Amino acid sequence: MNYKARCMKCKKEVDVKEPKEVEIKPGTWAVKGKCNVCGTNVYRIIGKKK
Ligand SMILES: [Zn+2]
Repeated sequence: MNYKARCMKCKKEVDVKEPKEVEIKPGTWAVKGKCNVCGTNVYRIIGKKK
């Protein structure tokens, strides 16, 4: 699956490299990975998951 997140450094939406789904609090999921362009860590909340 492909994720997009906003990169602070590129200041735009980028593809997330090596995305990892993590549960940041019970029932709330986020994707953590790296900016496909510059390698900065990016992060996106994807909300609840079944
Ligand atoms: Zn970037």
